[in-house]
Amino acid sequence: MIKDFIDDAKIGDILEKAKNPPKEKVREIIAKAKTLEGLMPGEVAVLLQTEDDELITEIQQAAHSVKEAIYGNRLVLFAPLYIANLCANNCLYCGFRRDNKDLNRVALTMEQIESEVRVLEREGHKRLLMLCGEHPTRSSLEYFMEAIETAYATKTEKGGEIRRINVEIAPLQAEEFKLLKKTNIGTYVLFQETYHHATYKTMHPSGPKKDYVRRLTAMHRAQEGGINDVGIGALFGLYDYKFEVLGLLFHALQLEQDCGVGPHTISIPRLEPAFNAPAAIKPPHPVSDHDFKKLVAIIRLAVPYTGMILSTRENPEIRSEVFELGISQISAGSRTNPGGYQEDSSDAFRAAQFNLGDTRTLDEVIFDITTKGHIPSFCTACYRLGRTGKDFMDLAKPGLIQKFCQTNALFTFKEYLMDYATPSTREAGEKLIQQTVREKIKTGMKKSVLNKLQKIEDGKRDVYI
Ligand code: SF4
Repeated sequence: MIKDFIDDAKIGDILEKAKNPPKEKVREIIAKAKTLEGLMPGEVAVLLQTEDDELITEIQQAAHSVKEAIYGNRLVLFAPLYIANLCANNCLYCGFRRDNKDLNRVALTMEQIESEVRVLEREGHKRLLMLCGEHPTRSSLEYFMEAIETAYATKTEKGGEIRRINVEIAPLQAEEFKLLKKTNIGTYVLFQETYHHATYKTMHPSGPKKDYVRRLTAMHRAQEGGINDVGIGALFGLYDYKFEVLGLLFHALQLEQDCGVGPHTISIPRLEPAFNAPAAIKPPHPVSDHDFKKLVAIIRLAVPYTGMILSTRENPEIRSEVFELGISQISAGSRTNPGGYQEDSSDAFRAAQFNLGDTRTLDEVIFDITTKGHIPSFCTACYRLGRTGKDFMDLAKPGLIQKFCQTNALFTFKEYLMDYATPSTREAGEKLIQQTVREKIKTGMKKSVLNKLQKIEDGKRDVYI
């Protein structure tokens, strides 16, 4: 049985030894990171302990070049779908916590879930992250699996459908993960929240989530249950950000060592105020924008092939800045209260997990990122063709995934422009597609890409390679 593999004292020691690093050492590590081979904990600690602005700029420039080399100008888009906010836990940073007696508690019925999915499909979403609180009866695994089936079965006009559902639910046993896998999920996502044991204990005073190790080892059990795409994350603001970055890295390395593949994604939520949640209203270790940008860049250098996810907790300005530093997936047009996509209520915060920093619609986000040169992608091809887990990494590392991802991003973006975009977004998007084909698609592939784009123009949907 896998044991606790996070050693707080060891992380503290690594950080201590890396203090005040000489410039040459920092530059040596940056040069290594640019070769895309990733970094080890001691090297990451040196970058984290770098406070010199000139060197931090060099770290960020390197992260930008790594991001461009692996992910190009793509940004994968998804929407979170909260189906229930009942919870047996008491996490001090979350609006759903059990002791928040003022929260409107909701567990959506299958009909309500269908209605939510219809709204998201009509906006153009193809990828969801489905979530709920941890409640033994009102958010059971059976309920959750039925919700997944309902969402996949919900179709709307113009070929509106959900093609991939990633899930974020409380830790399961390997046998339960096997059942979950049968519902055809994409990535299983679970955040440790904080890797620091004492902080974890303070933040989780009661409920099943009190158990640090049960949560830490969930990804290993998911792999045992056959789910080979897993996503880890830390909630920045609970403890020292440098410690959390190393915690994430140790988690990634342990998965690679024990399961043969590291995490598919790392999420980097930063604490935002939440209704009646003391630790969210006054974060114990607030992370400044400066440090947040630095940590994004360092994670990009440390694990270049692991996707990095940014939510709508962040405001549009910060989002734009960190896209350049290594973010590869973003949520857009999000609501964090169950039923929130159908309702437009000023009371929504009374049922929400946390407040949003970016409240723009999907189309507004797409217009914005398009005009900044990013290709929005709704691609789901890899997981539908079985390019997951180690198979995905084996393709990604020699750069082969670029070939698929870049073109599939263009196809799904074209679909969006044809079916859902406002006229101004469509105009900006068409220009960007043409420019990308001209400048980024290899000569040998241009004809076939243009052919497929024409087929989409003529009405064909769900085109991918
Ligand atoms: S963070 Fe998750 S487990 Fe904790 S109270 Fe919120 S919903 Fe429940």
